[in-house]
Amino acid sequence: MAKIFCVANQKGGVGKTTTTVNLAAGLAKLGQRVLLVDLDPQGNATMGSEVDKRQLSPSVYDVLLEQASVAEARVRAQKCGYDVLGANRDLAGAEVELVGLERREKRLKQALQAVASDYDFVLIDCPPSLSMLTLNGLCAAHGVVVPMQCEYFALEGLSDLVNTIKQVHANLNPKLQVIGLLRVMFDTRITLQQQVSEQLKAHFGEKVFNTVIPRNVRLAEAPSYGLPGVVFDPGARGSQAFLEFAQEMVARTKALPT
Ligand code: ADP
Ligand code: MG
Repeated sequence: MAKIFCVANQKGGVGKTTTTVNLAAGLAKLGQRVLLVDLDPQGNATMGSEVDKRQLSPSVYDVLLEQASVAEARVRAQKCGYDVLGANRDLAGAEVELVGLERREKRLKQALQAVASDYDFVLIDCPPSLSMLTLNGLCAAHGVVVPMQCEYFALEGLSDLVNTIKQVHANLNPKLQVIGLLRVMFDTRITLQQQVSEQLKAHFGEKVFNTVIPRNVRLAEAPSYGLPGVVFDPGARGSQAFLEFAQEMVARTKALPT
């Protein structure tokens, strides 16, 4: 049965999508069966997984509105080695359309139940907000992976996310937990980043993943080829780090009940 994880941080540009596609590809390389769910109307994880967001029909939007099943909407990303439940601009409308519908925050959870035995991992790329879409992700998930840059305001932003996760845990999804904080776009030459990294470890202890993802231009170039870095250039430093991270995820989530 699939273990389901959100990659979330309400800030934009912190590396959520890069983490989701590269973790998906890394897990696939380890022989895990993976479904990537794109919950961001920008559709970057979709496009970054060799899937054209303009060609999707149906998409995750139709799944949330119960007009299609996951089995109907998923597509295979051949080179990436995983399945994609893709998103495009249609999804921006779902936010409004879901208001007033019943079980609105549990739509994704319910839809994923039908395919849970097809996968070992389901990874959900969340939008940069704590919206109804992110709430659907958090309600469906066993845990949250939080990518973050080690910068001055990083810790401040984290408390909003941690509070939201606590509320969802208390009211909607008692299974939900923070799996870990992932330091991304890390540059060891920058003293401030090392200081923030130390603060993170002091404050969150074991919740900080051991793997650190370096800033690496190959990871940034890969989306323009429609691929995760791990597939586009497996030898690159950033790709190697994500492969290591995939192993850490497998080890860290092994004992989680599904
Ligand atoms: P988010 O999904 O949180 O908005 P992205 O994953 O799209 O963030 O990353 C924001 C930008 O930073 C993108 O242009 C991406 O290619 C780049 N980027 C992400 N991680 C790295 C990294 N480790 N090294 C270099 N560039 C990165
Ligand atoms: Mg993104």
